[in-house]
Amino acid sequence: MTIVQNPRLTGLACLRCDRRYEIADHTTGCPACLAEGAPANLECVYRPDGADRPAGRVEQPYLRPVTLGEGGTPLLTDLAGVVPGIDVALKWEGANPTGSHKDRFSAAVVTRAAHAGYEGVVAASSGNAGVSLAAYCGRAGLRCEVAVTDDTPARVVELMRDLGADVVSFPRSEQRWEHTARYRDSTLMLPVTNFVVPPVGSSPFGIEGYKLVAEEILADRGGSAPEWVVVPASRGDLAWGVHLGFRELLGADAVPRLCLVEPFPRVAAVLAGADQWATFPGDTRVMPSLGGNLLAAQSVEAVRRSRGHAEPVDDESVRAETRRLWRTGFPLEPSSAAGLVAVSRALAAGRINPDADVVVLATAHGLKGM
Ligand SMILES: [Zn+2]
Repeated sequence: MTIVQNPRLTGLACLRCDRRYEIADHTTGCPACLAEGAPANLECVYRPDGADRPAGRVEQPYLRPVTLGEGGTPLLTDLAGVVPGIDVALKWEGANPTGSHKDRFSAAVVTRAAHAGYEGVVAASSGNAGVSLAAYCGRAGLRCEVAVTDDTPARVVELMRDLGADVVSFPRSEQRWEHTARYRDSTLMLPVTNFVVPPVGSSPFGIEGYKLVAEEILADRGGSAPEWVVVPASRGDLAWGVHLGFRELLGADAVPRLCLVEPFPRVAAVLAGADQWATFPGDTRVMPSLGGNLLAAQSVEAVRRSRGHAEPVDDESVRAETRRLWRTGFPLEPSSAAGLVAVSRALAAGRINPDADVVVLATAHGLKGM
């Protein structure tokens, strides 16, 4: 397998302080910001002379990525009644090879790991990321180690193992990060998900894969940006990647507004004045993909820089919405159905207008959790 690095990729930059770094796996984000107690992720930087890049396409760090056919997911429109009172479009990420948006991240980050000469990757996962990374590592001939919690559904753990991953399980969520952190300086196994407290987020090479969501939405709409993009979020990898994609194609002043969906106020609390490095109380049984009591700077920045908004949604509403959606032919996992609950709530509160042009990222298929 020949992997070619994009000749226009020049390095990485910190999203907070804009310091520049060489092309490498800085697994704890920007060292300078980490030392200041304000961890922040890096982003890939490309030479601006993209003349040989087709119009409407985002840059990617590698030109021949490891792929299982991810992306190109349908943008479903004419969905009258899916959210009563507003006509939304659904970007159906459950159509990806392992049933979630994580396949975009996995394709990009496993390509990076293979190109950089690692034997494998290590990740902490609540389910979708582990299944996805296992599949892409299998394709690339790399090892995959996934750290999960003991309450991860047995079927999901079985899927990871069937796909060739080594799965290690811990009683508490933070023990997954402690496990991943042991590989922070490894030259054999690349940690690709966050293990820093406070969090920085996942590998910037993987996050580049999410820029393609923005590219596809614009392409499907003839280049016209929606007003709002609704994104379920935990530590904001997807939201930040989608924002980067729109910024690259439209410019910083013309990006769509992001509505981050969260199971209890985190970004919403920061927008209301809370310290972003605080611990945010709250729990969710229904949306494990969106859990966690700490925020990454990239989540807050994705909202601030897009003049966006954060919408907390509760377990009970999401459980009811998931049941309703399944009966109308949309087998979304609850963490995805949460996006539609968020639209209903924002509509009822007047934060989104009934005539607004809204795309909801339906992040994952619900069949895996059965
Ligand atoms: Zn920095």
